[in-house]
Amino acid sequence: MAEKNWGNCKGCRYFDSHHPNPGDAEVAQCTEPELREFDLKVSGMSGCNEFEARTGVPSSVQQEPAPSLH
Ligand code: SF4
Repeated sequence: MAEKNWGNCKGCRYFDSHHPNPGDAEVAQCTEPELREFDLKVSGMSGCNEFEARTGVPSSVQQEPAPSLH
């Protein structure tokens, strides 16, 4: 049986947070395909073996363009 990675939800791509760097106390839905049907709400410091590291900032969290200096 292949070993899976355990990790904290705050660093997991399935943690449905709107923050680029979720904290331990943040609560969000787990969107892992097999778990999302249970509508799990997990905290940043929770974790499980389905962990997959976040690869970047979600598209919904685009940064504002830097203000121009005139
Ligand atoms: S419960 Fe598991 S799959 Fe879901 S967000 Fe946390 S670490 Fe990721």
